[in-house]
Amino acid sequence: MTESIFTKIIRKQIPCHLLYEDDLVIAFLDINPVRLGHSLIVPKIQVDYFVDVPVNYYQAAFSLAQKLAPAIQKALGTTRIGLSVVGTEVPHFHLHLIPIEQDRIEGIRTFGNAAVLARQAELIRSVLNQA
Ligand code: 5GP
Repeated sequence: MTESIFTKIIRKQIPCHLLYEDDLVIAFLDINPVRLGHSLIVPKIQVDYFVDVPVNYYQAAFSLAQKLAPAIQKALGTTRIGLSVVGTEVPHFHLHLIPIEQDRIEGIRTFGNAAVLARQAELIRSVLNQA
């Protein structure tokens, strides 16, 4: 099986703006965010389709979503976080956490600036670590 880009991130072969990791899951900012704060939660096992993900990894991903969403909200001052599973680009199951304002998600990906992402990751980690 070819290594996914997320497996390479998990193995620290390529960098990311890390938010959190433990034995089962890792969370980092999307490199090409739909909105500022767009984050990904990825199990540390490379499985494409959600129905095939071992239940402990699956539960760990959703549990982290419940902890990380409030941290993103607080750190970035957004009103709500949307959660979705897409999987059209990277064949490695993951959750998207996307800040939502004014009841809609803007569809233009224009904020992928490394300095902005680094600052956001730092803010979110600091809130997460206070909890
Ligand atoms: P999906 O597979 O759910 O359709 O989308 C995959 C998501 O992963 C996209 O939002 C894309 O911007 C993000 N992505 C793809 N490659 C990388 C990468 O190397 N680093 C990070 N942080 N995000 C990535």
